[in-house]
Amino acid sequence: MNQHQPTIIRDRTPVSDAVLTLHDVKVHYPVKEGLLQSVTGHVRAVDGVDLTIGRGQTLGLVGESGCGKTTLGRVIAGLVEPTGGDLWVNLTAEQQRDVDRLRAVEPASMTAADRAAWQSLQTGHRLGSMSRENQRAYRRNCQVVFQDSFASLNPRQLVRDIVGRPLRVHQGLSGDRLNAKVGELLDMVGLGSQHMYRYPHQFSGGQRQRISIARALALNPEFVVLDEPTSALDVSVQAQILNLLVDLQGELGLTYLFITHDLGVVQHLSTTIAVMYLGQIAEYGPTDLVFNDPLHPYTRILRDSNPSLDGENDATEWELTGSVPNPISPPHGCRLHPRCPVARAECGWSVDDVLTDIEDRAPLLFETISRVERQDDFTADVTFDTEVSARAFADRLQASRAHDAVDRPLEIADATVSVSFREVPDATLQQLREGRLTSCTRTQNLGALPPIHETRR
Ligand code: SF4
Repeated sequence: MNQHQPTIIRDRTPVSDAVLTLHDVKVHYPVKEGLLQSVTGHVRAVDGVDLTIGRGQTLGLVGESGCGKTTLGRVIAGLVEPTGGDLWVNLTAEQQRDVDRLRAVEPASMTAADRAAWQSLQTGHRLGSMSRENQRAYRRNCQVVFQDSFASLNPRQLVRDIVGRPLRVHQGLSGDRLNAKVGELLDMVGLGSQHMYRYPHQFSGGQRQRISIARALALNPEFVVLDEPTSALDVSVQAQILNLLVDLQGELGLTYLFITHDLGVVQHLSTTIAVMYLGQIAEYGPTDLVFNDPLHPYTRILRDSNPSLDGENDATEWELTGSVPNPISPPHGCRLHPRCPVARAECGWSVDDVLTDIEDRAPLLFETISRVERQDDFTADVTFDTEVSARAFADRLQASRAHDAVDRPLEIADATVSVSFREVPDATLQQLREGRLTSCTRTQNLGALPPIHETRR
């Protein structure tokens, strides 16, 4: 991670007491190919995430499978090293403002007071710059409950050893004191100390998840990352585990990061929601407002696709088209635009978008492409086997919304179509109202979600 990297300040409202603050966090995995295993690109699993998790809050992190939410949860829990960005621990609102301000200042332009403040913030609060002891303390203070309790519990160990391990390692407990503490934890999660001498396979899925929760709470953490903790369970058992988590939070004052693909699960549990799409945060805000008045088309579509949710679901014909784009080369502009029902010229279009579109929706025409000569991501000559195919491609493009984004008329010469799109900046998460952030540039410009009657061409 860079020690100091000036970056765009994403507007945000600092929370009064943040357990964790993320700035521009990235996890890019190299893609290696060939005999020499050369790096040919990067999978951008997490790509510039800014988030603040307030103490005592439950932040619901939601999104489709593969959007990067689990990787982000693992970064937060210290199980995956980020390849970029910063994680700050225990910042007050004033310190969050200071960090935002100082990150935007070039090191050469810093005053002596700025440098001293920056140094003090880093050594006191930034993971990677704090003392080893403080970093270990953070790791102990942040525990994880995984989705698959069967895989995360050692099948050859007794419950006493699974739940008691952190107590033995970090607190040196053994014998009766260890048994007493493990019994207390098992009682706390509603399992009872009589189960101490059984193995994981002797329990139901819900009971195993209670064991995982007991293990996570062994060191009295303040912050727990819950990674799809109920998605492998039956609906009735799900409700029991969710109720247990709510009770424990009230009793112990815990902070939760609740990761899920199911908005319904977090609707009643989380105070704040962050919606993630293709490695980035699309929308962030208080749960009730995000449900009743979403400020990103993606959130609205996710909400409306779940009929069990309590939001004010107007009838909408909005739906996502196509599949999730490749995270190795995500779309320019707004990442949702190839799938968004209300995308417009300003949402960002490139040569790849039109090629992917005909690959998905006109595969026979796609098969007739013989060559693509790119000047850059926005300008290319696309050559087909025949002039008829070239004209069919041009007709398709002219009838589509992408055509509004061309910066000069299409040129057709024999079997080649020359296309050129206007380049637009990548969308960033911006505050629209206090505590409400969206990355939808149309919503940012309109001050509200695009009109509901709009649909895609
Ligand atoms: S900027 Fe908004 S309207 Fe445009 S594609 Fe993205 S989500 Fe859709």
